[in-house]
Amino acid sequence: MVTNLLSHFGLSSFGDHAVHSPIDGAEIGRVAHDDAKTVETKIANSVAAFNAWREIPAPKRGELVRLFGEELRTNKDHLGRLVTLESGKILQEGLGEVQEMIDICDFAVGLSRQLYGLTIASERPGHRMMEQWHPAGPVAIISAFNFPVAVWAWNAALALVCGDSVIWKPSEKTPLSALATQALFERAARKFASAPAGLSQVVLGLRQAGEALAKDHRIPVVSATGSTRMGRELAPVVAARFGKSILELGGNNGMIVCPSAKLDLAQRAILFAAVGTAGQRCTTLRRLFVHESIYDRLVPALKKTYSNLPIGNPLEKGTLVGPLIDKAAFDNMERALVAARDEGGRVTGGGRVLAEKFQNAWYVRPAIVEMPDQTPVVCRETFAPILYLMRYSRFEDALARHNAVPQGLSSCIFTQDMQEAERFLAAAGSDCGIANVNIGPSGAEIGGAFGGEKETGGGRESGSDAWKAYMRRQTATINYSDALPLAQGIEFTA
Ligand code: NAD
Repeated sequence: MVTNLLSHFGLSSFGDHAVHSPIDGAEIGRVAHDDAKTVETKIANSVAAFNAWREIPAPKRGELVRLFGEELRTNKDHLGRLVTLESGKILQEGLGEVQEMIDICDFAVGLSRQLYGLTIASERPGHRMMEQWHPAGPVAIISAFNFPVAVWAWNAALALVCGDSVIWKPSEKTPLSALATQALFERAARKFASAPAGLSQVVLGLRQAGEALAKDHRIPVVSATGSTRMGRELAPVVAARFGKSILELGGNNGMIVCPSAKLDLAQRAILFAAVGTAGQRCTTLRRLFVHESIYDRLVPALKKTYSNLPIGNPLEKGTLVGPLIDKAAFDNMERALVAARDEGGRVTGGGRVLAEKFQNAWYVRPAIVEMPDQTPVVCRETFAPILYLMRYSRFEDALARHNAVPQGLSSCIFTQDMQEAERFLAAAGSDCGIANVNIGPSGAEIGGAFGGEKETGGGRESGSDAWKAYMRRQTATINYSDALPLAQGIEFTA
């Protein structure tokens, strides 16, 4: 199947670096990593492409993104399958990821006619002030393995209509999906006469390739998605040259289930958010605060559902939980469960499954861990399907504990009580970038700005006015009078 998929995108398999599928550990392709000289050439190409692209009117730039969206529509099934093969997420989610790319393209096409500035009242007679938005420059996009293509599209579709060129360093674990996406982009670009060469490029490599982009002063915007560790290393490098970072880092997302919650809805939301993508989403539900009055109803029901989860090949219909990305992810999960036990947790589930069938792949049973309190292990993001459960009796305590972790990505509450819902959304409520009522923390729509606070990095991507991060703001004042009045009434006549 993989050979057909790769040839569908016109990709050949060569190079020193083998790519393995987390489904069974089999080699599915080979890629060549770019050396420092090639990265340098690609950056120079990106600058040249930017200089041409910024002159194309924004609505015309939108037309290229529309053509790219059409390529994605036509090739959704192939690309979705490749994403599943390379990242291990179930096919429904692989297809969903491509749909997300299509959605953001549609959004960006509309946006290409709405890059609005402001008209500002001038204090001086005969003067007009305005704020306008110009293309920023080449944008580097560094992405993580768990959303191998959608995160790039969130950034690239906006950056392209904003007049920027893009240069993409995908995760070293998922280069094939990136190359396939790039091939689709090039097909679209061939249909668009004014797309300069090098408008979108892929740089393959380990973290050093990302570091090279982070350091380069010709790249004003670096959008980096990955672990908080990565953000901690990258942000000072970009800041040292006064570049701008858009950081989308780790999450440790919580849900509060209140006494009035519709438990059937809550249970379904918990399941999708905690075990979907095998717990490998930045928005995965990791902490569950359950009111003591419903704990003994909700938790046994959850455990029952967990014990029957269909775990297996993510390409097969009916599977809900695919593999972890690699052995390191499995080891991290094991370590976290040991720590949780040491810190007083009671573990249900966990452990490797299907080891005989898939000797070189890492499937696990998702774990529920009942914790006596929010101990250190609960405050860390372990990128695996572990759901920590904690009882609460007072709403204020649940909210305080909810906010008492270093990460601040996504959050939610299940309640029918308007006061609780509003308090959760209020200034003193959830401290996260995303806060939902009667919806789980994962599976965001592209229309809203996506991102989080604290150690999640503070970046915003996708919808709302996230586009502004890909442009430079300019304040312009025009004097159409015959006088030269100075601001603040200053007299300065020789
Ligand atoms: P990772 O941090 O290991 O790698 C992410 C990317 O950064 C890769 O392309 C990697 O090569 C590159 N990289 C690593 N160190 C770098 C450095 N010092 N300088 C430049 N580039 C560097 O992350 P991962 O394991 O691929 O992904 C999982 C993590 O990503 C989780 O923590 C998850 O929460 C996070 N994530 C966050 C979001 C979000 O929107 N907030 C979305 C997806 C994933």
